[in-house]
Amino acid sequence: MPSVSLSVDLLGLASLLIAFNTEAPPGNEGPCARFVANYLSDLHIDGADIEVHSFARDRSNVVATFGSGAPGLLLAGHIDVVPVKDASAWSSPPYEANIRGGRMYGRGSADMKSGLAAMLAAISSAKGRKLKRSLSLVATAGEEVGFDGLDALVREGRLKRIKARCGVVGEPAEMKVVRAHRGGLTCQVAFEGRSAHAGDPSLGVNSIENCGRFLTALGPARRRLSATRDPDLGRTIVTPTMISGGTKSNVIPGACELTLDSRLIPAVGSKAVLKELDTVILALSRKDRSFKAKVQVLYETPALSVPRDAEVVRLSESLTGSTSGVAPYGTEAPVYCGLGTPTVVLGPGSVRQAHIVDEYAQVRQIKSAERVYRRMIETVCL
Ligand SMILES: [Zn+2]
Repeated sequence: MPSVSLSVDLLGLASLLIAFNTEAPPGNEGPCARFVANYLSDLHIDGADIEVHSFARDRSNVVATFGSGAPGLLLAGHIDVVPVKDASAWSSPPYEANIRGGRMYGRGSADMKSGLAAMLAAISSAKGRKLKRSLSLVATAGEEVGFDGLDALVREGRLKRIKARCGVVGEPAEMKVVRAHRGGLTCQVAFEGRSAHAGDPSLGVNSIENCGRFLTALGPARRRLSATRDPDLGRTIVTPTMISGGTKSNVIPGACELTLDSRLIPAVGSKAVLKELDTVILALSRKDRSFKAKVQVLYETPALSVPRDAEVVRLSESLTGSTSGVAPYGTEAPVYCGLGTPTVVLGPGSVRQAHIVDEYAQVRQIKSAERVYRRMIETVCL
């Protein structure tokens, strides 16, 4: 493996990370993951254990731990970016970082290669120091396509060796501390009817009408689900967002599919939503045996809610001089919380810049991120 020059500065490191095209789909995070692992191993930090974890062809995560002491700090993020689609719409090539007007432009500059660069640069401060508590870095693949890299790590038990009392995910948050966000659940309800000539509807089962019955019956269930209010995140919301059904204007539709988007608070999560959907379907099928519907989960992310007085919240607030708040998007942070590490979101760049043409992060925020992560390492691990 080629050696990574440690003389490269923070912005140089961010540029090198941006130069890897890690668009997901398809992902292809392997080369970038190996670069991250090489950078970390070249630091020769005390008690280093660095793993490039491949879970599919050209798809890899990095899990690194340093020191063998008591639980310390976890720095986490993702390697993949969303696809560019049309590079000609950009003012400069998306995979060549370009600094102008105090901003670093490039795909992933905000989400979240500059955050990852700041974490790597901060970890280099532990070089030659004795770690009193452990320091870990997890860089995942496929965050943008449903956390498939992180799912593989959890499924295979690869994160068991991470023991941390404080965790930070470096997603774009303009260096303000995020301690809560809603979760998400996207599911599809498939209504199975029976096609027939529209001249005699009694010969068929109209799946669109069954979908209509379901939507009517869903009303009280949606109200029950939104009855509980979280002081930070509001209420769980279930919304029908897409519908398709039927094949021809004169045919009784044999199939209809409805997509439901749910935004979840911790107290009323995906289990509660799925239970309500099942209850509605069961009640309708008891009334009418020709009513058939099946729920399929397409996408699910848990909600984040770290207590205001948690050590990681207080530390992050004091190092950034900001008050913690909530985010309008989902992250991998709740997964780390579920594994026992209270984890906040704190990173450079704005979510308004994520996923768009001419994505950028403010250079001063990238530098501030490195300083804050460095201070965190000093406070928690050294
Ligand atoms: Zn992201």
